[in-house]
Amino acid sequence: GGAPVKKLTSLQNLVKDSAEFALRGSNIRCEYRIPEQLYPVAVDVGQMSQVINNLVINAKQAMPEGGILTISMENLSRYSMGGARPGRYVRVQVQDRGVGIPAEHLERIFDPYFTTKKTGNGLGLSSVHAIIAKHDGALKVESSVGVGTTFSFVLPATVGGT
Ligand code: ADP
Ligand code: MG
Repeated sequence: GGAPVKKLTSLQNLVKDSAEFALRGSNIRCEYRIPEQLYPVAVDVGQMSQVINNLVINAKQAMPEGGILTISMENLSRYSMGGARPGRYVRVQVQDRGVGIPAEHLERIFDPYFTTKKTGNGLGLSSVHAIIAKHDGALKVESSVGVGTTFSFVLPATVGGT
């Protein structure tokens, strides 16, 4: 929680390090599709690490037999969010090939305390949502039962140097 303390960060390294940490000792292989050059973004390192950690742990739990997780990042040169003037954004996608989310759950997964897990607390995605919002970004999910789930979020690029 709390107001983000944003600083220019290598989002590539942050994402990889957080994902590797979340996957340590698991039977999931992570495939990265990450360009060398990304628009500069300013993020709260602790909060953004928590975002990746929460998404990757959920993906891991959705693939109990293991499998491949794909994390992609890309520059969006003219992305328009909510009718705003198009601008530069960075998009991060976390794609699993796990159990998927039934349609009737999709609108509830970001609610605090919504969980389908025996020992879940249902706070992971609500905190992801809050953190992305505090970074002036946007978050969405696409899922298909038995096929997998992709969470993606966009963050605005820092305008005008450091
Ligand atoms: P928790 O993980 O404690 O249950 P979350 O807020 O992280 O809480 O997730 C809420 C619910 O959304 C999960 O219980 C699960 O039903 C669903 N969910 C989240 N991520 C995934 C995923 N990658 N694949 C399938 N279901 C998911
Ligand atoms: Mg969770």
